[in-house]
Amino acid sequence: MADDALRCDACPVLCYIKPGRTGSCDRYGNHNGQLVRLDPHVMLERAQSRGESLVPFLGKAREWDGNLVTDAETFVTAIGAGTTYPDYKPAPFIISSQVDGVDMVTVVTEGIFSYCGVKLKIDTDRHLGAECSTVRAQGEAVGHVTTSEYGSQMLSLGGVRHLTGGSRQEGNVTCDTLLHLCNGRAVDLEIDNGAKLVVQAGQPPIVDGVREERMRVGCGSATIGMFAKQWFGKVDEVVVVDDHITGVLSEHQAGKLLGVSETGIRMRGRRSTPGRYFKVAEPGTSWGGTNITDPLSILEPFDREIAKPGLRFLMVSTTGEQYAYYELDESLQPLEKDLPPSLQDSVARLRENCEPALCTVLFMGGAGGSLRAGVTENPVKLTLSVRDALTRVTSGGAPVYVWPGGGITYMVDVSRMPENAFGYVPTPALVAPIEFTMKLVDYAGLGGHMDYVRPLSSIQQEDHGLRRLESRDDNPWPLESGKSWQK
Ligand code: SF4
Repeated sequence: MADDALRCDACPVLCYIKPGRTGSCDRYGNHNGQLVRLDPHVMLERAQSRGESLVPFLGKAREWDGNLVTDAETFVTAIGAGTTYPDYKPAPFIISSQVDGVDMVTVVTEGIFSYCGVKLKIDTDRHLGAECSTVRAQGEAVGHVTTSEYGSQMLSLGGVRHLTGGSRQEGNVTCDTLLHLCNGRAVDLEIDNGAKLVVQAGQPPIVDGVREERMRVGCGSATIGMFAKQWFGKVDEVVVVDDHITGVLSEHQAGKLLGVSETGIRMRGRRSTPGRYFKVAEPGTSWGGTNITDPLSILEPFDREIAKPGLRFLMVSTTGEQYAYYELDESLQPLEKDLPPSLQDSVARLRENCEPALCTVLFMGGAGGSLRAGVTENPVKLTLSVRDALTRVTSGGAPVYVWPGGGITYMVDVSRMPENAFGYVPTPALVAPIEFTMKLVDYAGLGGHMDYVRPLSSIQQEDHGLRRLESRDDNPWPLESGKSWQK
């Protein structure tokens, strides 16, 4: 072009890039008249020691020193590999290797994912917002609250409706939010009529300004089951306060089997099965994920026919963070007293059994569309090959879970991937690394781009940088010989 600008054709945006400048996504630049992928291309080297993790998430990388070890010890990831567009062009790298004497091929590309999102697991009992409530970042809708899981609240973020189905601003903020989360950075979120959150992969969530410490040990009923023996004989009654199922020792099957006597306690809420109560309070961010700050507020007056003055009872939350000990006075009113030493161990044990609260970020994307054409001229054959376990899918060398059914819809735990593995394009869409590894003979069989297969050694001549990382020892080695890969 007249002003020496180059046209980048790696995505539909087709940026014109002047010398010394970068395109809209900052992934490509015009370097002395050459269009170059600016981030280094990441190679994984098989960790020498499988005993400890050599490269923790966000750990240090070394610059490539030019030495290649054997094919089977080096894995070419798609991080920094670049993208080809339109999809009928072969993927940027189609690398041959030998594994246990078998000729293999790995097809490597940075996929552009319009259909993608994040499943965010937040280990907390606290109520973050009602199911289906909108989750916002920078005021824009980026997802929703979905079904909670055991001890965790779940958010579903991103997806094509937020990326491209709303306003431009909504799409850009959604893309930005996904990018930050997938690259291991902290993100501020706010749930309509719910909590304000700071979430980051591998870190404790911060809920309304409070850093979460622990997951709950279990629901109230499970907690009764786990600790009934430790309470037996030391206290007459225990109530484990939980937004899901509040447990009552004397009525619970565990208490019955141990021979705990009736206490005359009467609970608010809806009795499910003996010793298990639903909806004792409203959801909230206090005791056991309820809105109560005074545990006595979930009790009705004791049954005067059964309860006796001096009756001892403990109320405790499912994390053991909150607890209170009471004894009934002559008029059967609870009087709060210090927790007796005989009960302190059980509360401490309950807390000890609560795992650290973390945020987990799973990227989920659909590679079952046109991306497949960069691998084969007959895309459905790639899908079938993945289904038949002839082709292994990895993301930045990390293992993925491929959903059963149609297409290649996969999930990957971003904390098992190398740092900054994700990018974006302003369509907007996320760019995620994806590698397909299979036997060379199978690649030929599914109509692969055989003329573009090249050896690992050819990568040294590439004009952009290479970065070597040692593989995480808790990830399976992507080239580990599988049953379907043997001779
Ligand atoms: S957004 Fe990035 S990949 Fe797309 S054309 Fe521009 S520079 Fe190339």
